[in-house]
Amino acid sequence: DDSETNLMCGIIGYIGNKNSLPILLEGLKRMEYRGYDSAGVALLSENHLEVIKKQGKLGNLITALNGNNFNSPIGLGHIRWATHGVPSEDNAHPHVDFQHKIAIVHNGIIENMNELKAMLESEGHKFTSQSDSELFAHLIEKYYQPGQLTEAVKKTLSVVRGAYGLGVLSADEPDKIVAARLGSPLVLGIVPEGGYLI
Ligand code: GLU
Repeated sequence: DDSETNLMCGIIGYIGNKNSLPILLEGLKRMEYRGYDSAGVALLSENHLEVIKKQGKLGNLITALNGNNFNSPIGLGHIRWATHGVPSEDNAHPHVDFQHKIAIVHNGIIENMNELKAMLESEGHKFTSQSDSELFAHLIEKYYQPGQLTEAVKKTLSVVRGAYGLGVLSADEPDKIVAARLGSPLVLGIVPEGGYLI
């Protein structure tokens, strides 16, 4: 349908037994034509979440990574085509929760952003960007119970109206990426040597 072609941007995720960063960057390179606003990656190594993002083309992110490999078997990547909020480092994905444990990448638009943001702000959540996508990180944090990332994402999706291709990871559950889509394209890949890609 038309909504799929209007929402550009690209998301990628990898979990497996290889180092994720080169795989994520290769994926982002192939999707580079989909977004020039900003690019970023979230990497988990030994339960530590590292998020690196840069405004502008993918090359800016690669320069900022400076040859570091992070040795992380699980990660997410994003290349942005902004719908809410100017192209900037703050608005770039991945977005994280307040505790810096949950990272999300999102392709699409949250239509009931204003009411969800008002609800979260009244509960004390502080936002660091103008991107609608940041809501996902805060909602998942709000609904998170230990060991139940998938359930928190499901609950979040039950209150969000809009379109999404979504990838989520948490430092507390380093053995999984939770992915979902509605109205945005998303493909699950099974890596023959072990692991998964979205
Ligand atoms: N609506 C989100 C944003 O503006 C995602 C845009 C996109 O699909 O790149 O950050």
